[in-house]
Amino acid sequence: MVDTVILHTNEICLKGRNRAMFERALMEDARSRLSSLGGFTVRRDQGNVVASHLGPLTEAQVAACKQALGTAFGISWIVFAERCAKDLDAIKTAATEAMRPKGATTFKVFATRRDKTFPVDSQEIARELGAHLLDALPGLKVDVHEPQVRVAVEIAKECAFVSADREPGAGGLPAGSSGAIVAMLSGGIDSPVAAWKVMRRGCSPIFVHFHSYPYVGRESIDKVRRLAARLGAYAGKSPLYLVPIGDSQKEITVKADETVRVLLYRRLMLRIAERIARTERAKAIVTGESVGQVASQTLENIAAVSTVAGMPIFRPLIGDDKEDIVRAAKRIGTYATSIEPHDDCCTLFVPQRPATRADAARLDREEAKYDVAALVEDALARTERVAAGEAVAWYA
Ligand code: ATP
Ligand code: MG
Repeated sequence: MVDTVILHTNEICLKGRNRAMFERALMEDARSRLSSLGGFTVRRDQGNVVASHLGPLTEAQVAACKQALGTAFGISWIVFAERCAKDLDAIKTAATEAMRPKGATTFKVFATRRDKTFPVDSQEIARELGAHLLDALPGLKVDVHEPQVRVAVEIAKECAFVSADREPGAGGLPAGSSGAIVAMLSGGIDSPVAAWKVMRRGCSPIFVHFHSYPYVGRESIDKVRRLAARLGAYAGKSPLYLVPIGDSQKEITVKADETVRVLLYRRLMLRIAERIARTERAKAIVTGESVGQVASQTLENIAAVSTVAGMPIFRPLIGDDKEDIVRAAKRIGTYATSIEPHDDCCTLFVPQRPATRADAARLDREEAKYDVAALVEDALARTERVAAGEAVAWYA
């Protein structure tokens, strides 16, 4: 019976002197994810994280573990194992019991001997165990290339682990191991995927959404709260800033050339995002832009907008096609929310013929026609900071 969950770490083994820090981050995340299930002790074990349960796990508990750990970054494989005595007979019994309910026709044994004092080497363990399984479970065959089931045996210090069940992990680096970033969430398809990609590299997100309420409805705010809550399944609770920019947009509409209006809104957003980043000690800003996707995302326009930023802007989707992004959004679980209709704050006051080749100097000249600093301060003064993770309960 499964009583242990082994988390194979992704790239942590490559991290040299920082390894302990990455392992601690993963252990902390695993502990909090398993806490509601109860009965687990989580510890480090030679590059992996091992969660031992008090007793055997029921099928429902195994399913709950898969659900809880499937969105944890920093894990390459989640292995469901049984602890048994470091004794070949005990290992054979455990492996037979793990294999039997699978109803598989092919298998392969993978053995690792971490404890080199164990008298049987890994090749011999694999051979003996393979022969035993072929005997014990008629109809079973070995397939060394594409086995239906991998029977894994690990001889550790205090016990042996035997498993016939594993799930792929979410990959990347453990949540929070890389520091904070500001993720600009619009409510569309792209920005949650962009945020997810940097979160997967261990960045803790501070979500920021700019809205034009009450000039448009509250739909985008509700959507972004739910998107941030969904992303919270990966990163835990993160703050969400809701920034009202409708009045600033109106001011820009009145004062500046309409063909570059959207680019001026974008610059305003970046300036405000940067201020929020500094308050939250975030080191970079993340957006969902990809080259040429819309008029505001031509290479020239991206360059012209970016000059106002005093910190790096990351665009993890820059080279992705829309189809790839949609596929990723479905996998992550943000797509259904993203496609709900909402009034985009940039479609409010959107010009008929937007410039596709603006340059920074032109945007600087337009910005000189109004008081940018005052618009930034005004929007920040009316900004709301909420806990995104808590929005799940609020919305349900
Ligand atoms: P998305 O699907 O993310 O809305 P998009 O293809 O519609 O992206 P734009 O609307 O041009 O592209 O926005 C580009 C990026 O700028 C977004 O991915 C997002 O990171 C940021 N952004 C745009 N509007 C907002 C907003 N209202 N609040 C926060 N960020 C925004
Ligand atoms: Mg959009």
